[in-house]
Amino acid sequence: MRFFKRILYCVLFFFCIGSIGFCFWMRDRYVVPILMYHHVGVPSVCKWHLNVVSENSFDYQMSFLKRHGFKVISFKDLVEGLKAGRAFARNTVVIQFDDGYEDNYKYAFPILKKYGFPATVFVISDMVGQPGFLTWDEIKEMEQENFVIGSHTQHHVYLPKANLNALQEEIKGSKKVLEDRLGHPIDYFCYPVGGFTAQIKGLVKQAGYKAAVTTNRGKDRFNQDLYELKRIRMNNTDSQYSGLILWFKYSGYYNLFRQFKREKRTRKECVL
Ligand SMILES: [Zn+2]
Repeated sequence: MRFFKRILYCVLFFFCIGSIGFCFWMRDRYVVPILMYHHVGVPSVCKWHLNVVSENSFDYQMSFLKRHGFKVISFKDLVEGLKAGRAFARNTVVIQFDDGYEDNYKYAFPILKKYGFPATVFVISDMVGQPGFLTWDEIKEMEQENFVIGSHTQHHVYLPKANLNALQEEIKGSKKVLEDRLGHPIDYFCYPVGGFTAQIKGLVKQAGYKAAVTTNRGKDRFNQDLYELKRIRMNNTDSQYSGLILWFKYSGYYNLFRQFKREKRTRKECVL
């Protein structure tokens, strides 16, 4: 009997030590989730469902954040906090949109205004004003309401396949176009389809951007590097299963568990 008691105490002891160790290990692996959206609504330009979140589903995802007390901060606050080594509350998230589709203005913008959430939209400078994409007036209106505009290049080319001249044009040129049209600095960059190399990162820094975002690429899984911040793709189906997927994606530990895979270049981003 005494022997079994000793065994039990040993098990309890190691369980407690293990739990404390696990808590410390997890604490260092928390990452503020950057939620990545593309289309909101049912636009005709893109039928690929993984990049389209319906208006209802988007509203549900935002209301979920509100109801459960999540703190939605601007990308600027995230970047400045990371730079300063600030610790973020465990219920913090950032919201972003890629490509600058007009449905962001029609459907997402009113919902985000309703909840008072800030967001960033990475626009393709040459596509602004084209059918299906945001206009300059819509962008300016969104900027008045807690939206920050970033660059998603000039033509949405896959940067690792581009030559140096094209890289300069896409990275520096798009910044200039946006700054000239909007009248203020453009501080953030988004790699199309998440593709980047060390050279591309260097050019982005050189161009004067303060941070850049990718998808699930690169080696830094915990967003220590401001020029390869990882994001979480949000899907229409995330609202199912009583919010379990949303809890997981908003938890700050999603990067830890998701498969470390290189995303292949694909037309699935549906930019025409
Ligand atoms: Zn894109």
